[in-house]
Amino acid sequence: MAQTTPSSQKNIIILGGSYGGISSAHYILKHVIPALPSSSSYQVILVSTSTQAMCRPACPRALISDDFFDQQKLFVGITKGFEQYPTDTFRFVHGTATSLDHTSRTVSVRVAADNSSESFAYHALVIATGASTPSPLFGLNHGESFLRESWAAFRKALPTAKTIIIAGGGPAGVETAGELGEYLNGRARWFSSKLANPKVAITVVTADSKILPALRASIAAKAEAQLAKVGVTVIKNARVTNAVPIGAAAGADSVSKTTVTLSDGKTMEADLYIPATGLIPNTTFVPKELLTSNERVETSSSTLRVEKAGSRVYAVGDVSSAARPAIHILMEAIPVLCANLKRDLLLDTGKAESEVGAERTFKEDTSETQMVAIGTKKGVGAAMGWQLPSFMVWLIKGRDYWLWTTGNLWSGKQWAKET
Ligand SMILES: Cc1cc2nc3c(=O)[nH]c(=O)nc-3n(C[C@H](O)[C@H](O)[C@H](O)COP(=O)(O)OP(=O)(O)OC[C@H]3O[C@@H](n4cnc5c(N)ncnc54)[C@H](O)[C@@H]3O)c2cc1C
Repeated sequence: MAQTTPSSQKNIIILGGSYGGISSAHYILKHVIPALPSSSSYQVILVSTSTQAMCRPACPRALISDDFFDQQKLFVGITKGFEQYPTDTFRFVHGTATSLDHTSRTVSVRVAADNSSESFAYHALVIATGASTPSPLFGLNHGESFLRESWAAFRKALPTAKTIIIAGGGPAGVETAGELGEYLNGRARWFSSKLANPKVAITVVTADSKILPALRASIAAKAEAQLAKVGVTVIKNARVTNAVPIGAAAGADSVSKTTVTLSDGKTMEADLYIPATGLIPNTTFVPKELLTSNERVETSSSTLRVEKAGSRVYAVGDVSSAARPAIHILMEAIPVLCANLKRDLLLDTGKAESEVGAERTFKEDTSETQMVAIGTKKGVGAAMGWQLPSFMVWLIKGRDYWLWTTGNLWSGKQWAKET
């Protein structure tokens, strides 16, 4: 039986402590609550499975060794960024949302400290629980300890691996292949189109006719050529239909020898198999009627409200159906979501429509914008439809996989101004 925490304050509950959740929390604390009459009667409660935020795009390189990044910057304690606010306006709960009742407007949370269940009533709710990956190597699916343990097991198996298969030709698969290729095999000389006899045979398998679906064919071809230089082969038009762990290590995610079957019937054996296909929205706690057919939270793509959930419920980031999953898109959504939340909260206090300003609308940037690092020195990409040279991709992304941006995000400096 869930224990209900009584609260004299109106709770603005945010689920998920990453790009979407931490950004919303800072924005609300800086620009929404101070604008409300009797602002001290509101409290932001941030609930997250992980006590730390991390620069998720860095995973393809970070999983190889801790030496690539300053670990103090890669993983940052969530609560540190919130010490700047009055203590009664913010609370962090280390736990996992297990059920949402949008009729009684409560969320049940399994608290990490003792596995007890606690129920929170919400006045407003932001769902930002993101998405998991089939591989445990790419994020905080089960918190930071689990991620570090997965990396440790992978690193232990890496020195003896002779064959690695990566399923998925999207950016995560391509970047992981590029990092592993450069680290394990080195790079072919500039006049060679591919690395002959790589030490480790690394294969990327994609169901598509090309890698990197969000980029045009000529850029994808450049990426494939760069991969060849670090000993990576790409198999196209073939889907991994089955991946069965072999032998003693079977069941140990990410470190088992694996038999991989492709849609053309071919089977291959890999010392390490990395599924880098697709995202699994973290929505098991959300009632089915609030989800789309692909398990995302059904969210208005213009207002970012979860309209079927009743008043003052919003979703943002990878969990939401509003836009495609990418950080630059999520960053554009935060000010819109928070402006609409502010408007809805002001209306709730009795303000008239004429006093609260117009509703903000979100418009997803659908331009060809994506950067993909290929090892520590190269990359491909485009920004707003303009192809970027490899050097620019390295400068903006490949040098440190956006770690230069996350300090301001986790501390809230990014949201100092209301935009
Ligand atoms: C390998 C990889 C590389 C990427 N590279 C890029 C890139 O270069 N550029 C880019 O724009 N995007 C990139 N992305 C996508 C980007 O990381 C996501 O768009 C971004 O992380 C989404 O943030 P989010 O806050 O929605 O969710 P997430 O980052 O998924 O975080 C969700 C948080 O919620 C927590 N959580 C989950 N379930 C619950 C629950 N039930 N209760 C409480 N808390 C919960 C999780 O522990 C986690 O902390 C990449 C993704 C991957 C996997």
